[in-house]
Amino acid sequence: MTDIWYKTCLRCGGEMEEGFALDETYGEKKQGQWIQGEPKKSIWTGLKLSGRKKLPIAAYRCMECGFLDLFARDKA
Ligand SMILES: [Zn+2]
Repeated sequence: MTDIWYKTCLRCGGEMEEGFALDETYGEKKQGQWIQGEPKKSIWTGLKLSGRKKLPIAAYRCMECGFLDLFARDKA
C-alpha cells in the first residue's frame, strides 16, 4: 500500500508534524472522528450516527504557518 501522507506544507512548504483531532467530552478523551453525511439531531444521543461511516481523524500541522491538513483514511 502506498502512503499518501506527506510531510510538507501545501501553503508554505514548511515541515509538518503529526497529530490528531481530540474529542473530549465529560472528561473522556478520544480521537476525533469523521462522520459521513450531514449532522442529524437525535433527542436521545445528541446526534444520529447509526449506519454512518466513521473514521478516526489524523491531523498534520505545519510548524511554520500552522496550516492543518486532516486525513480520515479507510483502514485497508
Ligand atoms: Zn505552512
